[in-house]
Amino acid sequence: MTKKWIQHAIKEINADIQRSADTHLIRLNLPIFPNIHIYLKDESSHPTGSLKHRVARSLFLYSLSNGWINETTTIIEASSGSTAISEAYFAQLLGLPFIAVMSNCTTKRKIELIEFYGGKCHFVEHYSEIYSKSTQLAEELSGLYIDQFTHAERAIDWRGTNNIAHSIFCQMAEEPYPIPQHIIMSAGTGGTSATLGRYIIYKGVKTQLTVVDPENSVFFDYYQNRNNQKIETGPSRIEGIGRPRVEPSFIPSLIDRMIKVPDAASIATIYWLENILGRKVGPSTGTNLWGGLKIAKEMYENKESGSIVTLICDSGERYLDTYYNEEWVKNNIGDISGYLAELDNLKWYK
Ligand SMILES: *Cc1c(COP(=O)(O)O)cnc(C)c1O
Repeated sequence: MTKKWIQHAIKEINADIQRSADTHLIRLNLPIFPNIHIYLKDESSHPTGSLKHRVARSLFLYSLSNGWINETTTIIEASSGSTAISEAYFAQLLGLPFIAVMSNCTTKRKIELIEFYGGKCHFVEHYSEIYSKSTQLAEELSGLYIDQFTHAERAIDWRGTNNIAHSIFCQMAEEPYPIPQHIIMSAGTGGTSATLGRYIIYKGVKTQLTVVDPENSVFFDYYQNRNNQKIETGPSRIEGIGRPRVEPSFIPSLIDRMIKVPDAASIATIYWLENILGRKVGPSTGTNLWGGLKIAKEMYENKESGSIVTLICDSGERYLDTYYNEEWVKNNIGDISGYLAELDNLKWYK
């Protein structure tokens, strides 16, 4: 009987949660800003290496509890890679077939990881075809298109204690400025920023939520003008964030401010951060931190003190062939030296 299997599947996922630890909150020491503390919530330390571990877990629990999955359902997802890796992990945990529908520009390492967890990859020529192809495959295979872009915001619980916002506020408790002045996040589905924004309102804290957006993305424009037109400038060059259409999980009413970040600035920032942390992070972390540093500078100029929190979304090991390859960066992102000099000039590290 299906209900019995669903209950078994939910128990499997809950046991996996029970075995897991929370992710670290890392404090950056930046001597130039003595009274402004920047923190990084390190989501690269999840078992599947990115913040998508949380989302995938929530999407499976949501779909199971809705009765959308049984013991034979093929799970299908439209993804730029990270979500598919985490979902392949949970599909394997439950013994379900999994297919990721992705652009053929997805990083090789991500494809290998999806296959490592027993998933299959289906590539589309044009990045905007991932949605329709996923719907079509789900129909053909009587499977479930789990659809992170629609369901992320509603599948993630923002009231309880098992979400990233609650975790950040708890981990800040003993810090000099325990309630962050600012939280900064980028948007792919928009699910994480929705969770953070709802939690901030629900708890009645003073924290301002800023969302940073890369170049080839419609979110910033939509936030400013409610201009809901698709863009055809090409796929986002910062993997994991920036979308060609406004995703249903992106909720602008929760966001206090948006900042457009040049792609070259995002990449310069991950190199700069490597000097401080001693490790490589993914490109969207660069976008997040560029926004965080901009806000830190504003606070400093306004003689404000306080704390700023942003996220390490995934590790740089997935991108050694691309964002950490000088030739690739020159050909695909362009000249980043101006931004490197800007970061260096401020002498943010000693
Ligand atoms: C998905 C993703 C994001 C954005 O998170 P959302 O909750 O989907 O908005 C940022 N960075 C990486 C690496 C991602 O995979």
